[in-house]
Amino acid sequence: MGDCIFCKILRGEIPSRKVYEDELAYAFHDINPVAPIHILIIPKKHLAGIHEMEEEDRELIGHLFWVARRIAEDLGHSPSQDPTRGYRLVLNSGSLAGQTVFHLHLHLLAGREMSWPPG
Ligand code: AMP
Ligand code: ZN
Repeated sequence: MGDCIFCKILRGEIPSRKVYEDELAYAFHDINPVAPIHILIIPKKHLAGIHEMEEEDRELIGHLFWVARRIAEDLGHSPSQDPTRGYRLVLNSGSLAGQTVFHLHLHLLAGREMSWPPG
């Protein structure tokens, strides 16, 4: 997608602070973090959001969650390592839900206590 900001990041046309990359996914630090750790995990395939996910994308979406788990563990924030740790995964779909970039992305938030319900 030519004018998609995250596709531009994938093509290297916009700089990003890379955390992880494989053949299907890319992860980088959010430019405007709302937690001490705020990482975005995106598929290399352009999908506007989970609302545009097709049946064939099931493995890809599952992979994004796998990558999130690995990153959280690499950074030492997984409750599987330490029950006092934890992280939140957020996926906004549509403007009403707070989505501002229409290339599917999973937010990985960690490093502070989270409240519920989210705003
Ligand atoms: P959402 O509101 O769920 O669509 O999240 C979009 C996220 O992308 C926000 O947290 C922004 O801070 C982040 N963002 C926007 N542009 C960039 C960029 N160039 N590099 C890193 N993060 C970005
Ligand atoms: Zn895109």
